[in-house]
Amino acid sequence: MPRVVTLTTDFGTGSEYVAQLKAALLRAPTPPVLVDVAHDVPAHDIRAAAWLVGQACPAFPPGTLHVVVVDPGVGTSRRLVWARLGDQEFLCPDNGVLSWALTRAPLVAAAELTVADDAAATFHGRDVLAPAAVRLLAGATGETLGPPLERLETLAWPEPVEMPHGIRGEIIHVDPFGNLVTNLPAACWPRVVAAGRLRVGADDVTALVRTYGEASPGTPVALVGSQGFIEAAVVEGRADVRLAAGPGTPVSIGRATPTADLLRWDRDHVWHAFTQMQEYEPLLIEHGQGAWLVDTEGNRYLDGSASMWCNVHGHRHPRLDAALRAQIDRVAHTTNLGLSNPVTVALARRLVEVAPAGLEKVFFTGDGSSAIEAALKMAFQYWRQSEPPQPGRTRFIAIGEAYHGDTLGAIGVGGVDRFTAMFAPLTFDAIRIPSPGGPCPHSGRPAPALDEALAMLDRTLTEHRGTVAALVMEPLVQAAGGILVHPPGFLRGVRELTTRHDVLLILDEVAVGFGRTGTLFACQREGVSPDVLCLAKGLTAGYLPMAATLTTARVWNAFLGAHADRRTFFHGHTYGGNPLAAAVALESLAIFRDERVLDSLTPKIERLEQHVARLAALDHVGDTRQCGLVAGIDLVADKASRRAYAWQEQRGTRACLAARKHGAILRQLGDTVVLMPPLCITLDEIDLLAAAAEAGIRAATNG
Ligand code: PMP
Repeated sequence: MPRVVTLTTDFGTGSEYVAQLKAALLRAPTPPVLVDVAHDVPAHDIRAAAWLVGQACPAFPPGTLHVVVVDPGVGTSRRLVWARLGDQEFLCPDNGVLSWALTRAPLVAAAELTVADDAAATFHGRDVLAPAAVRLLAGATGETLGPPLERLETLAWPEPVEMPHGIRGEIIHVDPFGNLVTNLPAACWPRVVAAGRLRVGADDVTALVRTYGEASPGTPVALVGSQGFIEAAVVEGRADVRLAAGPGTPVSIGRATPTADLLRWDRDHVWHAFTQMQEYEPLLIEHGQGAWLVDTEGNRYLDGSASMWCNVHGHRHPRLDAALRAQIDRVAHTTNLGLSNPVTVALARRLVEVAPAGLEKVFFTGDGSSAIEAALKMAFQYWRQSEPPQPGRTRFIAIGEAYHGDTLGAIGVGGVDRFTAMFAPLTFDAIRIPSPGGPCPHSGRPAPALDEALAMLDRTLTEHRGTVAALVMEPLVQAAGGILVHPPGFLRGVRELTTRHDVLLILDEVAVGFGRTGTLFACQREGVSPDVLCLAKGLTAGYLPMAATLTTARVWNAFLGAHADRRTFFHGHTYGGNPLAAAVALESLAIFRDERVLDSLTPKIERLEQHVARLAALDHVGDTRQCGLVAGIDLVADKASRRAYAWQEQRGTRACLAARKHGAILRQLGDTVVLMPPLCITLDEIDLLAAAAEAGIRAATNG
């Protein structure tokens, strides 16, 4: 069987180069079957070529060799490579043209082709690719064509955003010559002409705009070509202009940030969570990158609250973005009511593998509160169907200052009075034991010591024998209660007591799961396996709403039976197990493994500790608490007596708003300033975050 060789170029069908390439291939000792995939890829449009190659190539028989030639001179290092992806082989420039193909098949091996010193002669690789292809056709293996390569260039091409008054793209790549590649499609060129305004970050570069043909070596020019990218410092770095731009820098055509309208509409129409809308000051985050958020004016902020405690690997992580895109190409949503899909199943399996022992069953819901609701109902129903049934077990034990979400069941077990007291008549009354993680910065309630707290729990369990379905708690750190950190041993003690009294233990790891405390799950720090584990937020690395309630075979078995036995768990949410969210969650767990994320945390936690210790010395800082990459800093009117500020003064809020001016978005809990950055934050970024927090605290406390 002759080998199949496909050709994809941006040279045009009639080009001499394509004819020469074909002739060279057909002169090989064993001539291949030649297939033209396309020669009309728009000139230099790596994105279009990459998409085509990713779509077309998997269809060819195993062993097919794909020769892809799209100008490597811009937005690339000009490197030419051989690569094997799955069972297909490629000869192409290393300019991101395999980006899509790599999302479909893994890289098995790659080698860098040796290119002659005379760069002009090798332009487009014309004298390198053909001989390499001929050698492969003669039986050489790709590995012999040059030194091995561990990875290939991949580019993410996020869709440009259409704004009411323009379009916004971004820089997606800076090549070794300083050329800036954007995701703006070629079709945008006429819009630049019409709008008469092009900005790269804060720089208005309209005056520098030339068409590609007008650029000549050494010209100080920024250029929007018809090729779908912007070049600055055009022609391999020889021009004089360098824009202060890098990946993620916005590139906008027209008035892409009609901020005034949006700010007004935000005030007029959007009812923000936990926000007094009469006092609300809008801030529009337009995009993010890593640990950073960028507003519509281009101001950058560290995401000091991990976008409400959920972001893990940073914003727009290329692997998470790719996983999401790949799943969109399959299906966005199917129901999990009596139906399944591969990615949700794979996620369930992976969660069971990484979760504490015994948690083998996964019930998917949509957010943290719904994971808790499912857990509470599951525990309640369990006892009605256990062997023997114990229908008297209808109550829940919860910890003082607990927070488990805002739905009615969740506030039933919640204990942050200022959030829940008003709604008490609508829900049930949990049995409460005081938190040992205080003193509570809000109520001033003193905290019992470890032994005392456990003794109290023991008494409570004895007193309510036979009526308690489950104890629910946030392990190690009660987050919304004010970053209340439990003394070591409390969780283990609670597990021992609940086991002894045969009460189910529900752990709410919505906030502390997925690395926040230094281990994947907080309960692993004390070697504890609960009966029910609630996960959300970081489950999808902070990308999409998804939650999971994990439980044991013991609980699951109590729900088995014929339909007529009425043992089914009649509970579910439309988007439970959503495939898009599942795909991201699965990839996030792979990133934890591949990037050794948990191992990277120790120096970050230590750096944060150093800063928290420094902040603790400020005049108006009372107690500070930290567990892993979670820290709480109490602001007090009087340091010596720990006297609180009057709550109406909103010192915590003022500190966080002031910190924005110093480049960090923070979120307070009353007068406790919280630092809970994404795990991907770097040491330097932790320094910046702490500096912004300090500036905010000083501004709000006049200290
Ligand atoms: N449990 C805990 C411990 C939480 O911190 C939160 C949210 N902050 C929730 C539950 C509720 O999660 P959601 O906001 O996703 O409903």
